[in-house]
Amino acid sequence: MENKIVKDYLDEDGCLRCGVCGKRKQMKVQLLGNLHTVGCLCECEVKARQELDEKMKREEAQRQLYQRKSVGLREKRFWEWKFENDNGSNRKMMIAKQYVENWADMKRKNVGLLLMGPVGTGKSFFAGCIANALLEGGERVMMTNFSRILNEMTSYQSDKNQIIQNLVDYPLLIIDDLGIERNSEFALEQVYNVIDSRYCKMLPLIVTTNLGLKEMKSQEQDVAHQRVYSRLLEMCVPIYFGGEDRRKEEGTEKLGQVQSLISR
Ligand SMILES: [Zn+2]
Repeated sequence: MENKIVKDYLDEDGCLRCGVCGKRKQMKVQLLGNLHTVGCLCECEVKARQELDEKMKREEAQRQLYQRKSVGLREKRFWEWKFENDNGSNRKMMIAKQYVENWADMKRKNVGLLLMGPVGTGKSFFAGCIANALLEGGERVMMTNFSRILNEMTSYQSDKNQIIQNLVDYPLLIIDDLGIERNSEFALEQVYNVIDSRYCKMLPLIVTTNLGLKEMKSQEQDVAHQRVYSRLLEMCVPIYFGGEDRRKEEGTEKLGQVQSLISR
């Protein structure tokens, strides 16, 4: 670019014009019988204002996204679980992408996911990618786990109902690593309360667990476990990670709603 300073100049009407775009920076207006010279914006100035405006909007959107993530992603590692960090080795990730693409529908039909399989098969990454993508799309998502929720509930002067209410407030709740087999009666009851509150409000839930469907459906479980599991199976479509393909076992009323996603 040429490094010369282009000066503004006065035109034939005595109005200041921009040396760069040639448009007026001043104009004449009639006011109470008198002609006044008032300032106005030339094209460069209009453009500069628009750019500044857009920059501020982008920064505000970034700030809000950071805020949503800070609140909704309760562990720092969740922040890294994004589609852009996927190495493409897991074909099931297609389902996560389709869940996000069809989120409006998933939300409306209250379709949750139950991500099952051994440790290290990518279930949590799958769930985290959904969380991050929806957060980036402007949705409010909470991704946490029950040990964290239970810690909050048992901390000094906490209000259990308020905590549950808060979790029901999110359009999508993701519970990472549900493993309630070793938990107390109190814990189990709270787990049920959280899940059931979302069930009653018809809000979707995504859960990752290394429990198997057989375990969850087993009649040998006590009643407290059975009611948690049967709620989950009512609300969520099971998806298996790792091991042999056990899709044949999948069977809930909801399955039809994401079947098209899975087979696409
Ligand atoms: Zn100009």
